[in-house]
Amino acid sequence: MRRLLGGLVLFIFFSQPLFAAKFDYGLNAKPVADNTYLFIGKKEDFNFQNGGNIVNSGFIITDEGVVVIDTGSSRRYGEQMLAEIRKQTNKPIFKVINTHHHPDHFLGNQAFKPAPIAALKGTVKGIKNSGDMFAENLYRMTGDWMRGTEAVVPDITLQPGIEEIGGHELEYIELSGHTGSDLAVFDRTTGVLFAGDLVFHNRTLTTPHAIPEKWFVALDKLAKLPFKVLIPGHGEPVSDLSAIEQTRDYLRWLVTTLENGANKGLSMNEVMQTEIPARFAGLALVKSELNRSVVHLYPGIEKKTLHKLN
Ligand SMILES: [Zn+2]
Repeated sequence: MRRLLGGLVLFIFFSQPLFAAKFDYGLNAKPVADNTYLFIGKKEDFNFQNGGNIVNSGFIITDEGVVVIDTGSSRRYGEQMLAEIRKQTNKPIFKVINTHHHPDHFLGNQAFKPAPIAALKGTVKGIKNSGDMFAENLYRMTGDWMRGTEAVVPDITLQPGIEEIGGHELEYIELSGHTGSDLAVFDRTTGVLFAGDLVFHNRTLTTPHAIPEKWFVALDKLAKLPFKVLIPGHGEPVSDLSAIEQTRDYLRWLVTTLENGANKGLSMNEVMQTEIPARFAGLALVKSELNRSVVHLYPGIEKKTLHKLN
């Protein structure tokens, strides 16, 4: 028995550090168009195993240098991303862009300094106000993967419009709905649309800062762009409207479910028990994200319903 216990202690002692010592996100730059690469994250929530590798990030190699779009969830992620970029090119980092202020999209910024880091005005403000809090939360959720990570606030306010960088015509489109400030980057040269978290694909959307009515408007605008490849914030890229339509369909169902619940005077717990339609059964994390969305959005929708009734 003592030997058995001793073996168990040794196993726990050695297996944890050995696993953790690697801290390898396994990033692998996938080409999606000319000079354009993508890192596809897991369709999971943050945990100690994935270390926060749950997001899509990418980069475009232009004649003037590399444009990086989103930097992942930690300093380590950013460093490993940079190492992968260096396997493709030695060109300098021309610019880093953060699509919005959620931690899995900007906490790798540190690794790219002193390159300029740009984001929309609202995103810069969001990172300034909440960046440290987000980083602390991720320490709790992913542990040592986050070691040495600090929130780096973008130093450039990105103006919506078109910027020509080294042979690529990039269109910066200011939208909102997933958060109060969401950027889509459309490379008119290659037809690649980086949609940020305005579009999720086969992974249930998240809503901690969502404004659904604005999100629908944003999806309509994205759907009109002549893109060849759409990179969602989470999930695999697509070359058609399917990911936009899936995001819109789920968001519409979510809002309708919450409104119906409020009209019937249901409690949050009762709304959480709503049966999920079969067409959403394949979305990763659908049950847990529904519960989170009820917490995020139901109080606001109940308030609106009460106003209508009074
Ligand atoms: Zn987000």
